[in-house]
Amino acid sequence: MTSRNILIIGAGIGGLTTALAFARNGHEVDIVEQAPTLSEVGAGLQVSPNASRILSALGLGDAFLKAMIRPHEIVLASGRSLRKITHVPCGMFAENRWGAPYGVMHRADLQSLLRDAVVAHPGCHLHLDQRIASDDIGSWHERFGRPRPDLVVGADGVWSQTRRLIKDAPAPRFSGQVAWRFKVPTELTRSALNPTNVTAFLGSRTHLVAYPLEQGKAVNIVAITRGSDPGETWAERENPKGRADLLNAFAGWHPDLITILRQAPEMTFWPLFEVPDGSWHNSDRTILIGDAAHAMTPFAAQGAAMAIEDGYELAQACNQASGDMTSTLDRYETLRRARIGRTRNRGAFNQFAYHASGPIRVGRDLVLSLKSPESLAGDLDWLYGYRATGL
Ligand SMILES: Cc1cc2nc3c(=O)[nH]c(=O)nc-3n(C[C@H](O)[C@H](O)[C@H](O)COP(=O)(O)OP(=O)(O)OC[C@H]3O[C@@H](n4cnc5c(N)ncnc54)[C@H](O)[C@@H]3O)c2cc1C
Repeated sequence: MTSRNILIIGAGIGGLTTALAFARNGHEVDIVEQAPTLSEVGAGLQVSPNASRILSALGLGDAFLKAMIRPHEIVLASGRSLRKITHVPCGMFAENRWGAPYGVMHRADLQSLLRDAVVAHPGCHLHLDQRIASDDIGSWHERFGRPRPDLVVGADGVWSQTRRLIKDAPAPRFSGQVAWRFKVPTELTRSALNPTNVTAFLGSRTHLVAYPLEQGKAVNIVAITRGSDPGETWAERENPKGRADLLNAFAGWHPDLITILRQAPEMTFWPLFEVPDGSWHNSDRTILIGDAAHAMTPFAAQGAAMAIEDGYELAQACNQASGDMTSTLDRYETLRRARIGRTRNRGAFNQFAYHASGPIRVGRDLVLSLKSPESLAGDLDWLYGYRATGL
């Protein structure tokens, strides 16, 4: 295998995973990140077994496993009555069925673990506090006295600059959905939910997901409903009108859940953008991964997992390449496009089912209550049981 020089734009979960995967295969990697430090406030992340298997293979080790809380069950419940509709067992059941743990953790903790592994690897060079524009990507290495990259990986998220270099690349579009994310002390949630589970409360055009963080002392909450397009943005601090809008969208929900929404401390507001299907590489040496290529709404909680899979699979594809870079990138894209498409469809299905009302909701609850938890888990085998190349 020839050692290659890789330039990665963006040190999010996708960019850092990609860096580690390439460096562990013997390549030299530069990662350019606009943020002066890698940290993110308040938000949690569900890490499904398809992703945790890769993170363990990349050597994140005990610290990663310790940082994860393994929920007992993934529960679907009514937002109006709190009635449990169904559940999928988690914990050891997930580990035995899918061969790797299902966990929840602080996104900042995962990013820190990845950053530490990247910084400790002699093949990785992390350059913080450097926003790079599309016009500068081709010459970045000259300014910094680095080797010319054989491959440029755009891992720069929904508002990617790298994407401008790709002909027929997809443009982001507002999904029509917005999310509020916040943490509350576990005590505040006890009457509404079991804080050792991931619980998705379902309602008409709205849903709310809750899961434990910080050794069970806090509960992470994501509330999703319809909203209007705020223009190019990522997360925003809440304003007082935002809270009123949120309470309005969840009117009629169970009083214990409304109390949580009322009493929650500072919330962040996330308009949800998607990047639809389109080209991911420029037939030369630039490719997009993660949200830059295919941002999806969080109805299947798979955006970061797909970015992790992308980074690992791209490194494997380049490692095994016998032809030129274009055919390697083509093969990678074909492999990933099918999986991303299926995952996106699962998210769309979840959105339809979670936000159903009227007779569709009644039918949904009936079908779900007739299915055994094992059969519901079986529906997820293709997603969570996925083994990336070589694993
Ligand atoms: C409400 C919500 C809940 C979610 N829950 C889950 C979940 O439970 N599980 C899951 O798997 N996924 C979840 N996701 C999806 C997940 O957050 C994203 O898919 C994932 O973070 C994408 O990672 P990324 O590395 O591709 O992009 P990003 O995380 O956006 O990282 C891009 C990086 O590039 C940097 N950058 C951008 N532009 C430039 C530039 N010009 N120059 C230099 N650096 C630049 C940015 O600063 C950033 O660090 C959720 C998303 C939302 C909105």
